[in-house]
Amino acid sequence: MSIVRRAFRALGTLCFPPHCEACRVSVGVGEYLCPDCALDVQRIVPPFCERCSQPFDGAITQTFTCSNCAEREVHFECAVAACMSRGVVRDFIHAFKYNHRLHLRHPLAAWLAEALDDRRIAARPFDAFVPVPLHHVRFREREFNQAEELANLLSQRTGIPVWRDIRRTRYTSTQTKLDRAERMENLREAFRVRHTARVKDRHLVLVDDVFTTGSTVEECSRVLLRAGAASVRVVTVARG
Ligand SMILES: [Zn+2]
Ligand SMILES: [Zn+2]
Repeated sequence: MSIVRRAFRALGTLCFPPHCEACRVSVGVGEYLCPDCALDVQRIVPPFCERCSQPFDGAITQTFTCSNCAEREVHFECAVAACMSRGVVRDFIHAFKYNHRLHLRHPLAAWLAEALDDRRIAARPFDAFVPVPLHHVRFREREFNQAEELANLLSQRTGIPVWRDIRRTRYTSTQTKLDRAERMENLREAFRVRHTARVKDRHLVLVDDVFTTGSTVEECSRVLLRAGAASVRVVTVARG
């Protein structure tokens, strides 16, 4: 870091001392949550579905697949999320995405990095991160693609490139009120692969902020595999 940048950062810290993003008490430099609020983060711990990481209540020691994944054709190998989308995690994602609190990408990327450490991702190398795309109309409204911002930070940490190889060709209405079948229908032909030659025979990791029903990452995985990708795994900050 240059001397000038370092001086600016020091000045910034002096004028705006770091505080917990949830309750505003002071925290150390580079921290976003105080120890109390950090306790509010619900990590996803076993037992959970091997495929989609849906947590399962109860004592189960062997790997299992949830009924959701057993009943449908799933194209991604696994979808790994670090946290449940609740409390401060959900608030951070919301503030990052809709209130332009771009600095929150740092704690979100730190949680994503935890997902990369999961054995389902860490056990086998991959060639690139592929962010879930936004339609250009929505991109213009929001001015950034949250998935791409997060993928860029993961790339900085790991040295693995980001390939923006999926394009969203159809503007889909908001999915939040639809059930899974309606979501899949709504997403039909919504994505295209941009560089089929590049993804061919490659192992890819899709990146998104949150996994809700999984319809979006499922459709992205399907088009990547159809374009010749060797495998698609998914990482998200959180899971609904
Ligand atoms: Zn706090
Ligand atoms: Zn599952």
